[in-house]
Amino acid sequence: MTTRYTLAVVGIGKIARDQHLPAIAAQPGFELVACASRNASVDGVRNYADIDALLAGESSLDAVSLCAPPQVRFAQARAALEAGKHVMLEKPPGASVSEVEALNEIARANGCTLFASWHSRAASAVEPARAWLASKEAGNVRAVEVRWKEDVRRWHPGQQWIWEPGGLGVFDPGINALSIVTRILPREIALRAATLTIPGDTATPIAAELECVDTHGAPVRAVFDWRHGPVEEWAIDVDTDAGRLSIREGGKRLSIAGKDITLGAEREYPALYERFHELIAQRESDVDIRPLRLVADAFLLGAHVETEAFGR
Ligand code: NAP
Repeated sequence: MTTRYTLAVVGIGKIARDQHLPAIAAQPGFELVACASRNASVDGVRNYADIDALLAGESSLDAVSLCAPPQVRFAQARAALEAGKHVMLEKPPGASVSEVEALNEIARANGCTLFASWHSRAASAVEPARAWLASKEAGNVRAVEVRWKEDVRRWHPGQQWIWEPGGLGVFDPGINALSIVTRILPREIALRAATLTIPGDTATPIAAELECVDTHGAPVRAVFDWRHGPVEEWAIDVDTDAGRLSIREGGKRLSIAGKDITLGAEREYPALYERFHELIAQRESDVDIRPLRLVADAFLLGAHVETEAFGR
């Protein structure tokens, strides 16, 4: 019989309501018993204003899922881990690489599971793409091109945290592409150069270009742009000895060497909660920081180009 863990969600905003709450409701391995949010509450569970009140009021809680913006994730995760709770982090797992490394150590010291989730890796195209690129049939990867473009006013209406330090700017969606690329490519990639286009009134970029290479020297190029629309483009092309693998619509569609591949139904967040349950049951953690490290490298290496004010 499946063990049922009690769970709380922290930060009831867009992604918590759109994806986390429905996925948890459909997952028999978790029972949602509480939420913590400063300005929102969820029907049918106990509600708290913040994580400290939640942890004080829910001593028998097993796990928390953190859905607030990245700038507050470290303090929330540390408090939960030190209280002995298993923790699932929305992407990105933190506002800096070092704080995620520290959380990993805190989780180990407290005997808790830490799951740095990457929802785009659970998109239906990703595992078939990874398997084909790892196969002998595909041969070598020759070049990779990522185009991740959308209209920020449509996808992030009114969100101020994306423009503040730690909010990642256009890397907030761009890191989803990097989470897929780092999962599907058979070799590690290294960032060599970047350009960050930053509006005069924001701390984070509205567009970015990344030039990477894999360990065999194949170029991996990524273009992220928030000034695109009305139809978004979330595309990855991988050229190999055996033709082109193309991921479209953020991982909903896949073609290999000109043939469309039939994929399973979309279930990113249900799959994340299944994985979280499995990790807790096995007393393991899953913390892959490579997508965040590439973003951090882009901030380290990136040439800054100022562009017109966004008008936040
Ligand atoms: P959001 O709606 O702007 O924020 C989520 C909630 O976090 C807010 O409603 C707010 O609730 C709480 N919060 C905001 N600032 C806070 C602060 N300084 N301290 C404590 N709590 C704070 O953002 P979101 O779109 O859900 O994104 C949250 C995370 O999910 C981000 O890391 C994002 O990358 C990721 N994500 C988002 C999407 C999407 O489609 N939106 C998709 C996948 C992943 P209270 O005011 O009630 O506390």
